[in-house]
Amino acid sequence: MNYWERLMRTRRSLLAASFVVAFAASFNASAAFAQEQKVPVIATFSILGDLVKNVGGDRVDVTTLVGANADSHVYAPTPADARKVGAAKVVFINGLGFEGWTTRLIKASGTKAPTITVTKGIKTRKMEEDDHGHGQKPTDPHAWQSVANAKIYVANIRDGLIAADPAGKSTYEANADGYLAKLDALEAEVKTVIGKIPADRRRIITSHDAFGYFGVAYGIEFVAPAGVSTEAAISAKDVARIIAQIRKQKIPAVFMENVADPRMMEQIAKESGAKIGGRLFSDALSDEKGPAPSYIEMMRNNIRQLATALTS
Ligand SMILES: [Zn+2]
Repeated sequence: MNYWERLMRTRRSLLAASFVVAFAASFNASAAFAQEQKVPVIATFSILGDLVKNVGGDRVDVTTLVGANADSHVYAPTPADARKVGAAKVVFINGLGFEGWTTRLIKASGTKAPTITVTKGIKTRKMEEDDHGHGQKPTDPHAWQSVANAKIYVANIRDGLIAADPAGKSTYEANADGYLAKLDALEAEVKTVIGKIPADRRRIITSHDAFGYFGVAYGIEFVAPAGVSTEAAISAKDVARIIAQIRKQKIPAVFMENVADPRMMEQIAKESGAKIGGRLFSDALSDEKGPAPSYIEMMRNNIRQLATALTS
């Protein structure tokens, strides 16, 4: 082999090698491109994140800001949250004062993405009176605790995703229809299970007033020492009032909440003689290994806990 032959051979193999490199690079780029093609969306809390994932399916990449077992009422957003919101194409929030911190966060993020309030169209529950001395009548934000309301959330999510990603319209509609059918089955199950609890035992204590919509929809009275938010501290007077009410009305059980410190409820149970009924998921899902990793499993967990405590 003379010098020119060697040179040409080297050039050919270099060419082949660079082709392989270029091909691999373009392959990686296309995989990354497919990933980026997913519509980045924000859901403020875990329950809403699960609903958005069910409607968005494979077309969306959902980032949930407040995670499992965490309290959205008192969440403090981070600079990383602002960056995530800044990169999103749609931001889904509950509204009704649940995540009051979103207004500043959205402003700080500089996002131009639409903010969809998923409770739009829901018949809201105003607190009849404010017994915590603030002189306001706050709106109850925990609308998801009624399955009929969750169906309105799903419709709003579907419409928000279609507006942001019109090419996915048929996918979002099909996903929403399939999930709405599951919610219909869930609602029938909730009514059957709660319907078996004797009427005179349908009164329980929870730590904050998160189950008003559930109570109205399915016929259970929930009493709580804290109001519809966890922001205000509970006073000794609030606790004393609850204990007196448990004794007077013979309320059978008190329940823990996954987002609240259990110690206060343990004290109330001890002093009032009511039994501890278990743990309800109010404002957040459990993690993957827990009993409530999705909205549907959360509702099933809660009705099982209620039925077990109130029928025995
Ligand atoms: Zn709450």
